[in-house]
Amino acid sequence: MSPAIIESSTTVDVLRINGERLMQMMADVAAIGSLPNGGVRRLAFSPEDVVARKLVRSWMESAGMAVTIDAAGNMIGLYQGRFPHAPALATGSHLDTVPNAGIYDGTYGVIAGVEVARTLHEQGIRPDHPIEVIVFADEERTMIGSKAMAGKANLDPNFYEHPHYEPIEMGVRAIGGNWDQLPTAQRASLAAFVELHVEQGPVLEAAGNPMGLVTGIVGQRRYLIDIDGSASHAGTTPMTMRQDALVAASQVVLAVNRIGEKTGDGYGDQVATVGAMKLSPNVANTIPGRVEMTLDMRDLSNARLDAMLADLEQQMADIADATGTKISIKPQLRNEPVPVNSHIYNAISQVCERLNLPTQALPSRASHDAQIIANITDMGMIFVPSQGGISHSETEYTSPEHCIQGANILLHTLLKLDQHYRCSETVGDAKANVKVS
Ligand SMILES: [Zn+2]
Repeated sequence: MSPAIIESSTTVDVLRINGERLMQMMADVAAIGSLPNGGVRRLAFSPEDVVARKLVRSWMESAGMAVTIDAAGNMIGLYQGRFPHAPALATGSHLDTVPNAGIYDGTYGVIAGVEVARTLHEQGIRPDHPIEVIVFADEERTMIGSKAMAGKANLDPNFYEHPHYEPIEMGVRAIGGNWDQLPTAQRASLAAFVELHVEQGPVLEAAGNPMGLVTGIVGQRRYLIDIDGSASHAGTTPMTMRQDALVAASQVVLAVNRIGEKTGDGYGDQVATVGAMKLSPNVANTIPGRVEMTLDMRDLSNARLDAMLADLEQQMADIADATGTKISIKPQLRNEPVPVNSHIYNAISQVCERLNLPTQALPSRASHDAQIIANITDMGMIFVPSQGGISHSETEYTSPEHCIQGANILLHTLLKLDQHYRCSETVGDAKANVKVS
């Protein structure tokens, strides 16, 4: 039978992370690869990435964590639980950045996880489950770390080839991994994974800075739209005799925007964008004969994404008729929506209520390691507000107050989940990770 689980509510309820230490760690990591305008450049596998990992490793060790690096280069700090063979409750994010990054994206989730472990260690609190803080390898370009952990990585190194980057095997080796052993990075059992991240969008700030309860990570579909008209003389072709591909394209752009703005009937969270357009011949005195453009649509619901596409196809048929052009659309990319686990969502929500922090539910429209890890375990995400909604920019900013609040939510969420996923005393018992619903 499971041992009696009693949350020592008085001590645990008042438990808080050390905010000063959290922000000092953030500043120390921000100094590695720092840019003149307050941002940071810490590309995956670069010398800066390696140095940042070493520093974080030293903090993990000072929190009593055993640190290992798997074949994909994921650095895993393990804070042992009362039941060492129970599946771990994991958190974490990434330390690598885009070329001109802010200091919060990814790093914040890692540092908050480390601070949670340091707090538990300092207070002598030993949860039932082991707690892991994971620094995923290369989130920004390939997501190789989380993909390998989920058993979803393409094992062919040429798949990741890029003219501006070194071969991925060398990169993975630079951070302590081993490409030849990549499949060994796959994890069979984690009890749950919770990622804390800055929102990277303006929704929470616009709502008065509540904490973000992530409802899921949106699915993304990308298409190429081709419009064929007729290139002819801009002076001699009468207006009534034209097949102007750009005039048709302009109407498609507006149709896409209307679909993105649609509300009611479950609509409201979807986005739809034409981000790139190529026209030919692209000269001043010729009617555009051909336009190629992209379409990007994102939403939490596949059914809604299907409906958005059907709606657009209908409108494109009408536009083609009216403009005498031919319009075709073909899929380029499809990422499935990833819902969060409802127990984890509820745990985060209840923790926020207990900590007196207002919340707002919202989908994540950016990719995160959490969506990949959701393939192998229950997943949840917490967002903290981003000032101005700005991210992947040196001006990215989240206030210390919100950073500290987010880390406290993470701490109490992990402790709450420690009770939710019961450990059995019998190691290897099928009941070792029984969920209490
Ligand atoms: Zn990130």
